[in-house]
Amino acid sequence: MMKKPFLIDLHAHSTASDGTFAPAELMRQAAREGLSACALTDHDTLAGLDEAQAAAKDLGIDLVRGCELSTKCALGSVHVLGLWLPRGKERLAGLERVLAGERASRLVRNRAMVGRFNELGIGMDYGELEALAGDAVIGRPHFAALLLRKGVVDDVKEAFRRYLKKGGEAYVERRQMSPEDAVDALRACGALVALAHPGLIRCAPEEREALVVSMKEHGLDAVEAYHGSQGCSEVGLVLELAERYGLAVTGGSDFHGACKPDIRLGHVLCGSDGGSRIGRDVYEALKRLRKGR
Ligand code: AMP
Ligand code: ZN
Ligand code: FE
Ligand code: FE
Repeated sequence: MMKKPFLIDLHAHSTASDGTFAPAELMRQAAREGLSACALTDHDTLAGLDEAQAAAKDLGIDLVRGCELSTKCALGSVHVLGLWLPRGKERLAGLERVLAGERASRLVRNRAMVGRFNELGIGMDYGELEALAGDAVIGRPHFAALLLRKGVVDDVKEAFRRYLKKGGEAYVERRQMSPEDAVDALRACGALVALAHPGLIRCAPEEREALVVSMKEHGLDAVEAYHGSQGCSEVGLVLELAERYGLAVTGGSDFHGACKPDIRLGHVLCGSDGGSRIGRDVYEALKRLRKGR
């Protein structure tokens, strides 16, 4: 019998933020996709990790406990992943404080966006959004789902294009930390820190490089090369950055479930295996780096 390949996905979202699969469901999907290790990296929350951990244990999958922080700098929006977060309340207290601050700034933004929709004549109240999101950290994809349900738009794409994207009719800026602050917060609790999907930051190559240098000064460990929305030319560019600055490489699909139907858990556009998958080499290198701390 052929040995099962060791496949990983180090970037995925659950219903604890703006994904559509509950944490345990996500782990079952990971098993169906043949993954040996899968990270849960919800936006600004660790609330899904314990459920995912219990399910992963039953399934024999290695859960990588993570989160994703949305930061802002001169280049625009920059996402930062924390991987292998420690366990235990005390060790996470500092990070939890930072995440609570981010969630508070989301609340301010979300309420302002509800106001914008009402000004546009699209009636909505915050309670509807809460009812739809449950306990989740509310993000723009929840607005998209609500607009879809109200029949205001035909799909998520249209919701972003018309209303939710930066510059969209209902878009409101949110106070966000800097990429360097995110690196500091994640490093302080002992996580491995990666710059998420650098190939998707729309800027000149030298600007991206300057960002990486600045983040590295704060302890950045890795860059996310393999990703559900980074094609092979972008992957090449990120691998080059990793090589030049002595950074490790990570990868994940950025799976969100039904709200991003083009992205499949465990699959990326251009993988480390020459196809669409991420293999053991990536995982082992990250684990070695972590051990060496
Ligand atoms: P937020 O963190 O609330 O500002 O929302 C960001 C989320 O919206 C992330 O999961 C993005 O991937 C998603 N998003 C941003 N732009 C788009 C778009 N054009 N279409 C679909 N999802 C998007
Ligand atoms: Zn998301
Ligand atoms: Fe992201
Ligand atoms: Fe993500």
